[in-house]
Amino acid sequence: MPSPIGHALGGIAAGWAIAPVKNARNAVLLAGAGAAADLDLLVGTHRGPTHSLGAAVLMLVAVTLMTRNVRWGSAAAAAWASHVALDWLGTDTTPPIGEMALWPATRAYYESSLHLFPAISRRYWLADFWMFNLRAVVVELAILGPIVWAVVAWRRKV
Ligand SMILES: [Zn+2]
Repeated sequence: MPSPIGHALGGIAAGWAIAPVKNARNAVLLAGAGAAADLDLLVGTHRGPTHSLGAAVLMLVAVTLMTRNVRWGSAAAAAWASHVALDWLGTDTTPPIGEMALWPATRAYYESSLHLFPAISRRYWLADFWMFNLRAVVVELAILGPIVWAVVAWRRKV
């Protein structure tokens, strides 16, 4: 499962593709929407309903109502859904493996067999914690950095 850095990049790419960003504040909001699903770690239900397309739909409705702008609601939902997609493409090492990607339709856990993104360690007391996670972030930057660059370049031309 990608780090907050990877999820922030995913949120920026997905959201910016739908709603071109004109200022840094909106880019930060998209990054936050891309990473926010992992706040479930604070309540001990990691990779549950927050890691689902159902939650992305709730984000669409909430942001659309708050901003009265369906395009911004869609951008926030896309940023949230990018989290679901990136975790699905990641590597999970803690059971239950995967995420509740299709909640509320099912509470089953899903994970791709591609394992595109390395696992992130939260065991900060281990000696290799920093190198382990640094390697994972380098992979995330190598994959997601060019995607963000391409989306931003494309949106500036449109
Ligand atoms: Zn996650």
